[in-house]
Amino acid sequence: MSEALYEVLEGGVARITLNRPDVRNAQNIKMTLALDDAFKAAAMDDAVKVIILRGSGKHFSAGHDIGTPERDIHLPFERRASLWWDHADKALSESAFVREQEAYLGMCRRWRDLPKPTIAQIHGACIAGGLMLAWSCDLIVASDDAFFSDPVVRMGIPGVEYFAHPFVMNPRKAKEFLFLGERMNADEALQVGMINRVVARDVLDDSVLDIARRIAQMPRMGLALTKKAINQAEDRMGLRDVMDATYGLHHFAHAHNALTSTDHLGGQDAKSMAKTNKGS
Ligand code: ZN
Repeated sequence: MSEALYEVLEGGVARITLNRPDVRNAQNIKMTLALDDAFKAAAMDDAVKVIILRGSGKHFSAGHDIGTPERDIHLPFERRASLWWDHADKALSESAFVREQEAYLGMCRRWRDLPKPTIAQIHGACIAGGLMLAWSCDLIVASDDAFFSDPVVRMGIPGVEYFAHPFVMNPRKAKEFLFLGERMNADEALQVGMINRVVARDVLDDSVLDIARRIAQMPRMGLALTKKAINQAEDRMGLRDVMDATYGLHHFAHAHNALTSTDHLGGQDAKSMAKTNKGS
C-alpha cells in the first residue's frame, strides 16, 4: 500500500491522499517520495487541471515522522529537488542540513511551483510538517474540526523548515503562533487569512471537489500563468529569501541541540511533544 494514494476524478481533478492513518499521516521519506510521484503524475497528465491534497483517517497530518518504527531519516533516498549529495553516510550537521534541504524545504518548493492549482483539504490536526504541505498548496479549505500548530519552538527551533509563517499570517500573529505553540482553530485560521474557507466536516470532500471542478473549467495556461504571477509576487515580497535566511537559523538550532542535548531535536520525541501539545 502506497503512503500516498492517487486517483483521477471526473471534471479534470486529481486527488492525492496521505495514507498513514495509524500514525496520523506522519511523514517519512517514503511518504514524501510517494507524494512526489503523485504530484508528478498529476502535473504530466493533460486530463488533470486541479489537484487536491487530503489525509486519510482522523487527521490531515501530525507532521514529520519523529517516532514511528518506519522513521527513515538515516536511510539514503533519491534526490529530486536538487543535486546535493546523499546525507545518510555524513556526520551530524552535514547530514541534517543536506537531508532537510532536500526532503523538506526543496520538495515543498518543488510542489509549490507545480504549474497547476493545488488545494489542501484539511481536517483534524495539521501540525508542523503538516503546515508545510498545506502552505505549499495554492488554496486551503478546512473543516470546522481542523486545527493548526507549529510547536517546534519547544525543541528550540524557530519554526518548521518551510518558513512561511509571516506570509501566511501577519508577523505579530506569527510570533504569537510560534511563541505559544498553541492550536489555532479553523475559524481563527480563516480570520488571519491563512486559509480560504471553513466548511462542516461532513461536506468537506464535496465542497473541495466542487471548488476544484469549477477552477478546472478555466484554461490550463491561464491557471498556470496566474499561479506563477502570484508565486513570483510572493517571492519578490521576500518569501524565498526569508526561507533561505531562516533555514540557516533552523540549522544553527539543530546543531546547538546536538551539542547541548542528546540529539538535534533537543531530546524531544513524538511522545513528549504530544504530551505538551495536548492541553493547548
Ligand atoms: Zn529541521
